[in-house]
Amino acid sequence: MAMITNGFGGHDMLAPFTAGWQSDMGPLIIEKSEGSYVYDINGKKYLDTLSGLWCNPLGGNEPRLVEAATKQLNTLPFYHSFWNRTTKPSLDLARELIDLFTANKMAKVFFTNSGSEANDTQVKLVWYYNNALGRPKKKKFIAQANAYHGTTFISASLSGIPALHHKFDLPVSFVLHTDCPHYWRYHLPGETEEEFSTRLTNKLENLILKEGPETVAAFIAEPVMGGGGVIPPPATYFDKIQVVLKKYDVLFIADEVICGFGRLGTMFGCEKYNIKPDLVSVAKALSSGYMPIGAVLVSHEISDVIHSESNKIGAFCHGFTYSGHPVSCAVALEALKIYKERNIIEVVNKISPKFQEGLKAFSDSPIIGEIRGTGLVLSTEFVDNKSPNDPFPPEWGVGPYFGAQCEKYGMLVSCAGDYINMAPPFTLSLDELDELISIYGKALKDTEKRVE
Ligand code: PLP
Repeated sequence: MAMITNGFGGHDMLAPFTAGWQSDMGPLIIEKSEGSYVYDINGKKYLDTLSGLWCNPLGGNEPRLVEAATKQLNTLPFYHSFWNRTTKPSLDLARELIDLFTANKMAKVFFTNSGSEANDTQVKLVWYYNNALGRPKKKKFIAQANAYHGTTFISASLSGIPALHHKFDLPVSFVLHTDCPHYWRYHLPGETEEEFSTRLTNKLENLILKEGPETVAAFIAEPVMGGGGVIPPPATYFDKIQVVLKKYDVLFIADEVICGFGRLGTMFGCEKYNIKPDLVSVAKALSSGYMPIGAVLVSHEISDVIHSESNKIGAFCHGFTYSGHPVSCAVALEALKIYKERNIIEVVNKISPKFQEGLKAFSDSPIIGEIRGTGLVLSTEFVDNKSPNDPFPPEWGVGPYFGAQCEKYGMLVSCAGDYINMAPPFTLSLDELDELISIYGKALKDTEKRVE
């Protein structure tokens, strides 16, 4: 099969999250998907352990989603939602989302095309809200070191991963970062998880006091950090953090872009950790990745303020051409229907113990520091001497070698340096899970040999 090239051995795309040398080698071109598998252009089959990009829990060929898209395309392929005009699928989806999110009662839904746009929107909503309340200084955002919230100007700033900031002159100055709640990596000798959570909460409170609570608008966090290496919160972390946020009137934004729609074994991560957010970002599994769509869920308090302010000053002037795209909304509505009918929470809770235990059984490997996760999301971190303080030299490429071995054996994993992230589709059968664990084991053995 001929590769499409630009004449220099590479291709014509400026590819996301890809180094120049990688694109020079040519990409892995995926052509077809089926259940938990994808196929490349040479027909090679791979178990897709990241559900695309953490977004496709219903797997590669769900006919009902295709049908929902086709039906909508044949009826109304596009109409917008500006100026109080809209479409039925977007109204229905907003209603469904409000009903589905039970951790805190939400009032309104604003549609975006992605998780990054949702998080950018969060900042604008919060600024608008505080301006409307006559608090023009209350504009700073606090996010967590190592968090991933997207790559647009503001969402990349909210992200706490240095590689997303380098050479982009980010983060912007109103975004501050507080500690990453990764117990294994950052706890002090003898410190329990609860004590670690208390220490981090005290540091957050000190940061708010140092900046001045009148300047701090919101705190944003993922219930379980995903892209930063799958970090479930330490015990009592969110309970304690929420007390401090309430004390200083700082809003809580829950980024449910990965955790939402069943991935952790609850419909949303907020339910699992008793988080009562003021604002919520969702995307990815909202349409099972079949169409681009994201959304912001807005509390009554905030939407009431926006409502009355826009009555005073004129239209609420924020929106995207494709906010509430009818095809994306129709597909998302069908995905939510399927999640309910197939009881995905039960499905996830049935497979996840074997997924977690089956992989955590490899924790004794001399090159693994920690295997962590919950529900159907898990990360393996390769380190030397089993210590968080002894990373392997990046030039050894330990994570990428493990990833390449998995690929050789017919399985795709995500390698972020020496972190290997997995978030398999909910379609994963027990046989497929055995295959996943077996390939992981073989690739690990190869990697141990190479590191020896
Ligand atoms: N928030 C979280 C938690 C994410 O994991 C991601 C993407 O991986 C985003 C936001 C950004 O979403 P998108 O890539 O759709 O812009």
